[in-house]
Amino acid sequence: MSCEAHGDVHFGIDLGGTKIELIALDRAGRELLRRRTATPRNDYPATVEALARLLEDAERELGARGTVGIGTPGAVSRLTGRMKNCNSTWLNGMPLLEDLEHRLGRPVRVTNDANCFALSEATDGAAAGAEVVFGVILGTGCGAGIVVRGEVLTGPNAIAGEWGHNPLPWPRDDERPGPPCYCGKAGCLETWISGTGLSRDLRAAGGPDLPASEVAGRAAAGDAACEAALQRLEERTARGLAHVINILDPDIIVLGGGLSNLARLYENVPRLWGPHVFSDSVETRLVAPRFGDSSGVRGAARLWD
Ligand SMILES: [Zn+2]
Repeated sequence: MSCEAHGDVHFGIDLGGTKIELIALDRAGRELLRRRTATPRNDYPATVEALARLLEDAERELGARGTVGIGTPGAVSRLTGRMKNCNSTWLNGMPLLEDLEHRLGRPVRVTNDANCFALSEATDGAAAGAEVVFGVILGTGCGAGIVVRGEVLTGPNAIAGEWGHNPLPWPRDDERPGPPCYCGKAGCLETWISGTGLSRDLRAAGGPDLPASEVAGRAAAGDAACEAALQRLEERTARGLAHVINILDPDIIVLGGGLSNLARLYENVPRLWGPHVFSDSVETRLVAPRFGDSSGVRGAARLWD
């Protein structure tokens, strides 16, 4: 395969805390190639180098140079041009965009990984055609992105959609002040409605110490503690999303990340959010992603659409 003209190939890269994943899409959004490598944790120069090598190897393989979009945790500060809000904390304060443009010899677009997820699902995924899309990643943490009429909403602080660090709304007494969060506060939504949060909540209620991916299986097999933890997760997710609906009123909410594999969320959460939404009826749809884990890289590649 050879695509000579610059711009025919769009590379998307998802810079995660444990892996760096790359995809190459053609103009029509078809996947040409996909590669991944481990993220050099706690080593910024090595992270930049690993990312650049992954791209160079892919370009050599395809015989084509392309546009580069990157999804990262956190965001590029509009004030300083440096990274902020990354749970991969070794990126914070670093001029990632500038360093990558210098290393790769071309303009690069960098945005939050949840924004990439939302953009991918809004473009040709589960939310295709919807006017206002809220894309949520419920993984290790809880991030979100907003796409309006096909465009990512970033905002002057580059934090549009950073809902995971709002507090859990309408907290009960036993939910206050809530678990400590890496951001320095306590009781952030992320500490409740994430894979990590589900496991912690299960342990705190006297249940077994389990990764989130095993809780649903145990609940289905009759484990009462796991079932109760999932019901708390659903009810808290409903409260959290009711806040979003009251402010943004999205047409559709797409879930991503590990917890999006819980099929029961799509039925139970909308059943529970009604009382918290300031409306006589709630037309908002809650749906599973089309591309799942691939939406991060697909959305990054689409930053140059
Ligand atoms: Zn927080």
